[in-house]
Amino acid sequence: MCGIVGIVDAGGVSIQLYYALYALQHRGQESAGISVFDGANLHKFKGNGLVADVFTPPVLADLKGNAGIGHVRYPTTGANLPENIQPLNFQFQEHFISIAHNGNLVNTCTLRSEFEQAGQIFTTTTDTEIIAKILMDEISRSGIVEDAVQVCMKKLQGSYSVVMMIDGVIYAFRDPLGIKPFVIGKIESGYMVASESVAIDALGGKLIRDVKPGELVRIGCDGIRCMQVAVAGRRAHCIFEYVYFARADSVIDGVLVYDVRRKVGKKLHEEAPVKADSVGALPDSGIAYAIGYAEQSKTPYVESLMKNRYMGRTFIMPTQKEREKAVRIKLNPIPAHLQDKSVVLVDDSIVRGTTSKRIIGIVRDAGAREIHMRIGSPAIKAPCYLGVDFPTREELIAAERDEEEVRKSITATTLHHISIDALVEAIGFPRDDLCTGCLTSCYPLPIDGEKAKPCRVDFVDTTVQAKLGSFEA
Ligand code: AMP
Repeated sequence: MCGIVGIVDAGGVSIQLYYALYALQHRGQESAGISVFDGANLHKFKGNGLVADVFTPPVLADLKGNAGIGHVRYPTTGANLPENIQPLNFQFQEHFISIAHNGNLVNTCTLRSEFEQAGQIFTTTTDTEIIAKILMDEISRSGIVEDAVQVCMKKLQGSYSVVMMIDGVIYAFRDPLGIKPFVIGKIESGYMVASESVAIDALGGKLIRDVKPGELVRIGCDGIRCMQVAVAGRRAHCIFEYVYFARADSVIDGVLVYDVRRKVGKKLHEEAPVKADSVGALPDSGIAYAIGYAEQSKTPYVESLMKNRYMGRTFIMPTQKEREKAVRIKLNPIPAHLQDKSVVLVDDSIVRGTTSKRIIGIVRDAGAREIHMRIGSPAIKAPCYLGVDFPTREELIAAERDEEEVRKSITATTLHHISIDALVEAIGFPRDDLCTGCLTSCYPLPIDGEKAKPCRVDFVDTTVQAKLGSFEA
């Protein structure tokens, strides 16, 4: 998934980039990087690990400049190699260029081999370098960044929110389907763009609006301007941002994520009511859902699992065995709240089924009599090619199993996943404006090698004749 940020601020940006990345840490824990421009030179630093580990005070002190971009990485395309850590930095015709990307392209191989056949070399295995190559190719021809972004939108297939800095000017653009989130904020003496509004909150800024699908935003020391570069007949916002990925306190495309999850919790009770002594959550991802369920069912919300907050997300562990061990260290039951009780346990999603199965084992060992699992996501039936690390169909527990089979496999007393309709209603967008590929196998783009056919692929108009204009909030 990854988190990205770009800031121009007359008062300096390195500390602000650091805090913004801190607020986006949930979007990627593998690596972090910052590049800043001081008016003459580019200063950059990146490394593996969490934001607070990569950026020590002396490192931040060296990153001087009034414009900069940052990135936290969660790997989708491209291995965990030092050269893949973003932002990528280049020097091109005496210009300093940095680029960072959230999303995943689905035509990487085709684009890369086109360049390679023309004799170009790559220094990373990320799809971000392909975006940079397309942009530089066009800039070297026309010298116009807006035209280069338009060419990019013509050529790229997939999800991409991109932030690029050329000599201290920031260009931010979002794919025409608006798959990944991207917001614009006003801070004290400048502007910023970021993957989620929580990064703007962290800097005491004000959320202005989302970057529109197909839009290019330019931020310089002379202010902010924008233009519509491409227009698609639909949107395809990632449904899983609302379910799990985004922070609950983020506002994405005008919708507060916490509200969606709480509403889904209520709907879970309407769809699958059960008499129980208490409602609890798998912390933290299930909490907002569980609060909604408890409210609707008028059953007390009682915490019965305590989370060790100093551990990362368990799915980051590379092997199944390590993931299983990690669940036990991460969550500790409170037997006094479970002994001989019938409990509803709410989580956001079941992916491989490892977490649910282990937790149910832990809760049962702590004395629970009945364990009713309620899940805020519909059953995940298919892989994601557009930026969420959902494994192959073989690894997805619900890919070939119905709900009863999944229930048996995770050993719950009862199990219910929210319906797609209820989730869509809670988000509030028309279903056609959401990407539900992982739930339905209907992707908003053709995907090489995917057996399912795309459901509705719209013509994307990349011939929009627009010029960078004044910015409307
Ligand atoms: P599991 O079913 O054991 O694979 O893990 C499901 C848990 O991991 C849920 O509690 C989710 O909060 C979390 N999760 C969310 N997204 C993902 C993902 N892309 N891959 C794996 N686990 C995820």
